[in-house]
Formats: sequence, structure tokens, C-alpha cells
Amino acid sequence: MTHAFFEPPATSRYALRKLSAPRCLLPGDFAGSGADSELAAIDLLVDQGRVAAIEPAGTLPAELGPDLDASMVLPGLLDCHTHLDKGHIWPRQANPTGDGAGASMATQRDRQARWHAEDVRRRMEFGLATAYAKGVVAIRTHLDSLAPQAAISFPVFREVRERWAGRIALQVSSIAPLDIFLAEEGRHLADIVAESGGRLGCVTRSTRHPGDPMPPDLDEALARVFQLAAERGLDLDLHVDESTDPRARALIRVARTAAAQDFAGRILCGHCTALALQTDEFIEETIAACKDAGIDIVSLPTVNMYLQDRSPAGRTPRWRGVTVLHEMKAHGLRVAVAGDNCRDPFYAYGDHDMLDTFTQAVKILHLDHPLSDWIRAASETPAAIMGLDLGLLKPGMAADLLVLKARNYSEMLSRTQFDRTVLRAGRAIDTTPPDYRLLDDLMDA
Ligand SMILES: [Zn+2]
Repeated sequence: MTHAFFEPPATSRYALRKLSAPRCLLPGDFAGSGADSELAAIDLLVDQGRVAAIEPAGTLPAELGPDLDASMVLPGLLDCHTHLDKGHIWPRQANPTGDGAGASMATQRDRQARWHAEDVRRRMEFGLATAYAKGVVAIRTHLDSLAPQAAISFPVFREVRERWAGRIALQVSSIAPLDIFLAEEGRHLADIVAESGGRLGCVTRSTRHPGDPMPPDLDEALARVFQLAAERGLDLDLHVDESTDPRARALIRVARTAAAQDFAGRILCGHCTALALQTDEFIEETIAACKDAGIDIVSLPTVNMYLQDRSPAGRTPRWRGVTVLHEMKAHGLRVAVAGDNCRDPFYAYGDHDMLDTFTQAVKILHLDHPLSDWIRAASETPAAIMGLDLGLLKPGMAADLLVLKARNYSEMLSRTQFDRTVLRAGRAIDTTPPDYRLLDDLMDA
């Protein structure tokens, strides 16, 4: 059973005619402004599971395939910041306060009591099956890495990555408080990450100073993280300044550490929400330092909106909780949006659907009027950040596509695209997400 609104021809060579595609994801000949500056009318030829040609609409003969009446086509989308190991524990471990402190405490309680290998594996598999049904082609997940969890979750991840190869390209990063890297545990974790082909990751907070968004050991511990990564040739993936507290100013210190060490790897920084609460001068200075250090940024808008500026019942949040993504993009940083948490104490909702994440990002971050090339933040840019040749519509790429009933961004962003057709290697897959009931036996409170 599939809810897809059309099935492609059963032949290995066929055309999808009269599609609408974002110009910014097409080869250069479709750039510029036609009648629609954001979308181009195209015919797309699929052959042996790959995109064989992209032509102006009306070029390919009608007998090759259906006229899709301006339906939008997108490449499979990429989610470069998730937590598949935390996913779907909400029914057994809610977050009673809905804020970051409540999330950390609730997750720790659940992790220490329940996160044996089989529990982690089944929830990860559930998340991946959901993402696959939505048309996601690549995911990076962080794994909670405080001992003893890293030794449990990383082997599970390696098996799951193998099982999903060819369907979802999986990457991994550790996540742990910064100060563990000042102890032997940090070196051991860096070795586990290296064995797993992962990225070294941490949060810019210290267990020794839990209430302090700028712990006194910040610079010393950051220097150690960079050194451990450099010794092993690892990239970095950091949770930075995920806070409503304007004292959280670690991002510029990350950039300065990278410059001081002449760090050669890639650096992805997630959240950076507190930067939006700084003065314009300090924002400029921080972005310039990030640009110099080659730092990429990922915003997690739905989770930021959920956690940031939350107070005990009775007080309405006063700011959106997201970082300064427009300014970062304008200064030439690579900026992505991603899903982050899903049905866990850090975010009570979510469905591993990057099309929904992008749709919500447009509204939360004002990525509209004009939409310009913002769709790249869910496709080409996370692909570049992840080092994958994905996220574009171009000849030679696998025909891993989302075909929407929506004919334009207005229709796409206004109505939930539950009836999308997801093509993998040119064939329509079942887009029915897995039933939550599959996890019921793991959910006793
Ligand atoms: Zn995260």
C-alpha cells in the first residue's frame, strides 16, 4: 500500500514530463529567470535507475512517459543533524518541563536504565524506516557517548549503517560534555569514533559547571578536542551555544581554536541559538571568525522553537530561539537546516521528514519572500557538508527523487505532502511510515 499520487512507468527507461524543479538545484543552463525565477519547467529522463537527461519541458516525446502537469520534483533530501539513538522514547520518558535542563535529566534517566543494544537498534531502525519512506537519502546522527554508552551504541550504529547502505547513507558523530576530553575517557572516545569512521563531537558545556554556559575550562577542553581530532584525522561536529542565555559565546572560541591550531578537518557547528541575542557587532565578529575558520552551520529550527525561551507554565516565549542564519549565509558560510530530535525529551514531536523540516524552517526562520535558493539548505548544502555527491538534480545521479502533487512552493509549503511519490533508483517505494505500535513493547513506563 502506498499513498503516492502516481506510479512511474514500469520500463527501465522512461520520462517524467512537465515537472517543476528548483533552478538552484539544476545544471547551470536552467539558471537565470524565466517566467518563474525560482522554478524551471523540465522533462526528466530516467534510465537504468539514474537521471539520464534533464531538458526544458516539452522536449521529450509523449510516448516516453506521463505529463505531470507541473508537479514539483526535488532530489532526495539530507538530514545532517539527528539523534537516532534518542528517538521515540517519549511514551516512556517524557520531559515534564519541556526545557533543555528537563530534557537532559529525562534522557539521562532513560539512557542509564534502558539503552541496551537491542533497544537502541530497534528505535534507530524505526527512525530510519520512517525517514526512508519520506524520501531522505542521507542522515548524520549523533550518539550519546558518555561511558558506558559509546561502547554500546557505536557497534550498533556500525551494523545499522551496513544494513542501510544503498538506502540511506549514514554518518555518525559522538556527543558528550566537553570536559570528558580533559580526561582519559575523551581519548578512549576519540578512538571509538575513529574506529567507526565518525566525527568527533561534543557540546560546549561542562559537567563540572552545569549551570555555566561558558565553563572556565572551555578553551582548554576545546583545544584538547581539536588535538584529539587532528591526531586521528577526524572532522568535528559540535553542539554550540544551544542556550537562551546571552552569556553563551562559545562559537567564536571554537573558531579561534580552529585558527590557532590551523585545523585541517571540516567543522560543523549546530544550534548557535544564543548568537541571535548578541549585539550586531559581536554577531559580525563571530561570523567573520567562522568564515576564516571554514565553519559550517546547521540550524535545528523545530527543536530550538520547542526548547528555547521556555519557562514554567504561564509565561509565553518571547523569541524564536533560532540562530542568525540569514546573516551567516550572506557572509558566505554554508548553512543547513536539519531535524535534530524526534519524539524524545528534547523534542516531543517530529517524523524524520526533511520536507517537513524545510517547510517549518521557512516559517520559523523567514526563509521566504523571496524563497530564493533556500531549498539548498535541505539538499545541496547538507550534501556538501557531509561530503556526499547528493542533493542536486543533474544527469548521472541516481533517480532518488521526491515528486509532489504541489506545482509550486505556495502549494508545497501550505499543504502537508503526505501523497508524495518517492522514487529510489527510478522506482516508487512504499511511502507508508512504520506503525508506532511496532515499538509498544519497548515503551513500558
Ligand atoms: Zn542535536
